[in-house]
Amino acid sequence: MKNKSKVLLGPGPTNIDDKVKIALSREPISHLDAEFFGVLDEITTSLREVFQTKNKIAFAVSGTGSSGMEMAMSNLVEPDDEVLILKNGEFGSRMENLALRLRARVSTLSVPWGESFDQLDVIKKISSLPQLKVVALVHAETSTGVLQDIDLIGNYLKNTDIVFLVDAVTSLSGVELKVDEWGIDVCFSGTQKCLSVPPGLSPITFNDKALMKINNRKTPNSSWYFDLKMITDYWGEDRVYHHTAPVNMLFALNEGLSICLEEGLTRRFKRHRDNGEYFFYRMKELGLESFVDVDKFRSLPMLKSVLIPAGINDSEMRMDLLLNHGIEIGGGLGPTKGKIWRFGLMGFNSSKELIDNLFDKLELYID
Ligand code: PLP
Repeated sequence: MKNKSKVLLGPGPTNIDDKVKIALSREPISHLDAEFFGVLDEITTSLREVFQTKNKIAFAVSGTGSSGMEMAMSNLVEPDDEVLILKNGEFGSRMENLALRLRARVSTLSVPWGESFDQLDVIKKISSLPQLKVVALVHAETSTGVLQDIDLIGNYLKNTDIVFLVDAVTSLSGVELKVDEWGIDVCFSGTQKCLSVPPGLSPITFNDKALMKINNRKTPNSSWYFDLKMITDYWGEDRVYHHTAPVNMLFALNEGLSICLEEGLTRRFKRHRDNGEYFFYRMKELGLESFVDVDKFRSLPMLKSVLIPAGINDSEMRMDLLLNHGIEIGGGLGPTKGKIWRFGLMGFNSSKELIDNLFDKLELYID
């Protein structure tokens, strides 16, 4: 198999630090070894810092970001619960799909792809639904490159029994995310984005308000694999075997979290912000346009969506960039397919040097 490394500037996964590679290639130990329990404890401590929470429950679900979504929703949502989902891209729609499978009564609020919600409109919608049990939204919509402000919504929900669920798959450790301060009750992420660990785990945290709803369920979670109580019996003090934890992925996550915290969240956010701005500078210099209207909405520093100029064959160009220059970029999803490119500048790959190299190559395709 050819093993020439490629530069991954799409919507994830990213390239990884050598220390993460070493962690992945360690000799496995048992998931029930006391040494490994120490690793789990370190991960929980680091996740609390990265999520900016004091929550007791913070762990990594075995599975990609979508498993965090299933862990959160299958525990929180009971049949007939009224759930509000905010939809402005692919990932909000997936939460709607899952809530329907869980037989919730689903209400949605939508704005077009590329836009974010006015928080006051969301609060108005919430207050029009007296039976509402859960509100779910995506903090960083990777399908469009839009950042959603959530602090006002969360602070409003703090004074209610409604549980606030946030998808932070792309935002965690790339932009400010204050789980406790912003009133987020459940928050999940993925390892392959700004944490720059391969795909395969989903960091997640639950607060006491969420646990109260889960503990008062009338019906058990229909998913065995994602039953929170059984999983926390393993991650917590009892250490009861549930499933064979993916030990090397957890070594890798532990290393990725250490790298992140060594840099410091403030510096990491600034690096993403600075490189996002530099990307826009180079983008405009080349005559390209952002898909997100940045006069009205906030563009993600770690995921830039760009309109494909007329006359370019999207898939041929991306294939050529990958085969001949070793650079991967993302295409559009759903209604943006063939219309936008998505450039990931996440974690390990948020660097001026990689942006310069990228634009040197993009110039070859654009007149
Ligand atoms: N949510 C968001 C915002 C994402 O960007 C992604 C993946 O790109 C997911 C959820 C699903 O994560 P995964 O593909 O790791 O299952």
